[in-house]
Amino acid sequence: MRFDIITIFPDFFTGILGYGVVRRAIAQERVQVSMHDLREFTYDRHRTVDDRPFGGGEGMVLKPEPLAEAIESLGIAAKPERDTTKESVILLSAQGARFTQPVARELSKLERVTLICGRYEGVDERVNELFCDRELSIGDYVLSGGELGAAVIVDATMRLLPGVLGNEASSAYESFGVADAEFADDPDGPPRSTHGAGGLLDYPHYTRPAEFRGLAVPEVLAGGDHAAIRKWRRQKALEKTLRNRPDLLEKAELTKEDRKFLLNMNQSR
Ligand code: SAM
Repeated sequence: MRFDIITIFPDFFTGILGYGVVRRAIAQERVQVSMHDLREFTYDRHRTVDDRPFGGGEGMVLKPEPLAEAIESLGIAAKPERDTTKESVILLSAQGARFTQPVARELSKLERVTLICGRYEGVDERVNELFCDRELSIGDYVLSGGELGAAVIVDATMRLLPGVLGNEASSAYESFGVADAEFADDPDGPPRSTHGAGGLLDYPHYTRPAEFRGLAVPEVLAGGDHAAIRKWRRQKALEKTLRNRPDLLEKAELTKEDRKFLLNMNQSR
């Protein structure tokens, strides 16, 4: 998969792409990430990328000409001529639809994603109209630029690509994961994957030492009873989702037993 990022700060990404899973995926050529400096597409002495807004008001707006030229320099056609089942051009914007795990899954199926990072008051709207398939926001707050959003999208999307995580089941069985029969637990074997999938948040994880600052690891996890471990994990995922993101429970895949557990929890609150 290929990502192209159009930005006035290409160096911003040097550190962000240089660690862990993302660094490895790039080194193994499972993914290619290229930054493109918007100022390379200006022709004046000051390499101007912004101008005052029509209609007056605060701040500056990214001009359309350098952006259009940067996009076209990547061989990307204007909207109607593009095969959006293979590639997508995305404008980072606080006004965009929310970037979520399902959107990351959608993007991970594409061959190519181009990310346009706004700055100042934003981007001349005609760039959006002519070239962008969607506007995405990473949350309900205003950042000073689209670069952090682009990095978030690259990270969350590329870890869903085949072979990027050592264990394919990891991305299916984590918070916001979709239960996938291919990676289902063998009920007779040890619990190998989390039970947060199917729309729940992940359950709490523990490692050694068994006791840390007076807090012991839950006994059930050290006991070796696979069924009990599975049940505990499921209940903790339900508990955490109820506490932190009750909205997710409306769409989660819940069993009769899950519903009973949640009812008891609600009654005891
Ligand atoms: N005037 C804009 C508004 O009120 O929505 C805010 C512009 S912001 C200061 C500059 C740039 O940061 C935007 O063009 C966008 O690319 C990026 N940005 C800001 N907040 C964002 C968010 N929540 N998600 C993604 N990108 C964001």
